[in-house]
Amino acid sequence: MLTFTLDASDGAARAGRMETARGMVETPMFMPVGTQGTVKAVLPRDLEEMGSQILLANTYHLYLRPGAELIQKLGGLHRFMNWNGPILTDSGGYQVFSLGAMRKLSEEGVRFQSHLDGSYHLLTPENVMQIQAALGSDIAMVLDECIPHDADREYARASTDRTIRWAERCLRARVRADQLVFGIVKGGMYTDLRERCVQELCSMPFEGFAVGGLGVGEGEALLHSIAASTVGWLPEDRPRYLMGVGRPEDILNAVRAGFDLFDCVLPTRNARNGTLFTSAGKLSIKRAEFANDSRPLDPACDCYCCRNFSRAYLRHLYMAGEILSSVLNSLHNLYFYHRLMERCREAIRLEQSDFWSQASATLRAQLD
Ligand SMILES: [Zn+2]
Repeated sequence: MLTFTLDASDGAARAGRMETARGMVETPMFMPVGTQGTVKAVLPRDLEEMGSQILLANTYHLYLRPGAELIQKLGGLHRFMNWNGPILTDSGGYQVFSLGAMRKLSEEGVRFQSHLDGSYHLLTPENVMQIQAALGSDIAMVLDECIPHDADREYARASTDRTIRWAERCLRARVRADQLVFGIVKGGMYTDLRERCVQELCSMPFEGFAVGGLGVGEGEALLHSIAASTVGWLPEDRPRYLMGVGRPEDILNAVRAGFDLFDCVLPTRNARNGTLFTSAGKLSIKRAEFANDSRPLDPACDCYCCRNFSRAYLRHLYMAGEILSSVLNSLHNLYFYHRLMERCREAIRLEQSDFWSQASATLRAQLD
């Protein structure tokens, strides 16, 4: 089953369409993160209006609370959260491995203690497929082990081999015909391990491929070089997803390298902390200079927030700890990401080759 149609390319960058059971997704596309079955502080209606075409939800969190069976009984995750577009669920591996001492790894899977109540659980390649099938997401991810960026070669090799074996088990345990399954390329910071992992996974019938284990502290140069070489080995007729890497500049570079899908908590998390992405660079709304500023947050932005509210009001909401602060800030930051992706798609389609260096120069101002 082919799920990806390539419409245009500019160098390695590509614009296309990904078919899912709940409709088509234009690529390159950013997926807002809805950890607990909600994109924090944003209504599904507003997500749809601003151009979100697919959301990401976290298997680990929904499995522990309220439980995948409950969500299934209530009609599945789409109905539960009232989002009718496609949903991608991660496998839960990333969250489990973040638990550190509270988890134990074996060939069978990963045993862990809930961060909520200390109860014991086991995630295996088989049951993460069952959990994602119960949630009813449109794209399921395989279970993978997270490799620390400073892992030595032997650790990275053994872990990558296990992830490949787990990927095979996930495919064998596949439950739903209407759910796409993506493999995840690992290999740590070792390009030969990454290349071998790509070869192994490409011999399996995955509908798409993700590159994982980047943006974990390895630094910008290594992130870009490994992402760019890995994406070059992936098949052209399948969607390519760079997991969890999400500064605007990093996304732009990854689009140029040939990635199609992205997710990151950065736009929504930064929004709640009062840090906003604008066409003139990053802006911290809490700063005193905005107390009396009647201008919109970003005069170049036509989101609901920028069309209707002043910086002075947004600063006031933030300082007063008002809930609306998170709502408006999140709306603007996600809108910024979606417009960036839209401009990338347009530049690829129209072969506007000068777009990339101009956008890159503007986005440098967004970095810390
Ligand atoms: Zn705006």
